[in-house]
Amino acid sequence: MNPEYTPVEPGFGGMQGAYERAKVVFVGIPMDCTSSYRSGARFGPSRIREASINMETYLPSLDVDVYETVNISDLGDLVLSSDLTKDGMSVTETVKKLIGDGKIPGLLGGEHTLTCFALRAFDDVYVLHFDAHRDLRDEYLGSRVNHATVMRRVLDRMKPEKLIQLGIRSSSKEEAEFAREKGIRTYTTEEILRSGTEIMKEVRRVVGSSPVYLTIDIDVLDPAFAPAVSTPEPGGLSTVDLLKLIRATGGLEIKGFDVVEVTPPFDSGNTAFAASKVIYEILGLLSTTPP
Ligand code: MN
Ligand code: MN
Repeated sequence: MNPEYTPVEPGFGGMQGAYERAKVVFVGIPMDCTSSYRSGARFGPSRIREASINMETYLPSLDVDVYETVNISDLGDLVLSSDLTKDGMSVTETVKKLIGDGKIPGLLGGEHTLTCFALRAFDDVYVLHFDAHRDLRDEYLGSRVNHATVMRRVLDRMKPEKLIQLGIRSSSKEEAEFAREKGIRTYTTEEILRSGTEIMKEVRRVVGSSPVYLTIDIDVLDPAFAPAVSTPEPGGLSTVDLLKLIRATGGLEIKGFDVVEVTPPFDSGNTAFAASKVIYEILGLLSTTPP
């Protein structure tokens, strides 16, 4: 099975370089078939790219210009069929190929469901999961694979101690019990607001030099900062809080990342710009000139 892509021009940040030389390779995954409330995440990749080309590639926080310090390529958008099983295999194949070629995949969502397929391509990684929600239901609205069960599906083939959830402020009772039972390391929004980037010291101690995958559901932000998401949850982090947290992951062995759930039909542009800013911050960390 050979995944196909719809090419986009310009790619993320307008920094389209040769695939062969690229360290980070972006792929848009316009997956949008299980949204339970507001759909439209299929437009996420193009709006995130649009925002990205209207932002500076120089990051004052790190004093690096990612245009000069990270080679980037953008394959365009993965062609999907709306058959979740088939589409999921395309996501896994895409990520496998990128990893095999020594690239760091940067996935632009798309609904969060794509993450369980992406992670099938990795043998063993810590997953730093930024989200308002745990996404740990075993089943939701009669289906076992969707945005509300995605991290549970990840745990079907990954040890619970490898999952770290950050920014959580919404959960069903079943999810809370499951997380407690499995001992899933959790940092709630409140704990993050109380302790700030201090919590990252603990995360770094746990993760050490092991490979890490970042999955960022943009609804981890308060709806004031990211209103255009599928399931808004008030009481969240500010964009600055999130950027500081991400910056504090510097030095971790990031092997891949995704930013998901941007739902443009509900956006004035803020959410896509917030997502793009988060990605620039990650690119800063992947820069060849370490901060
Ligand atoms: Mn969420
Ligand atoms: Mn999610």
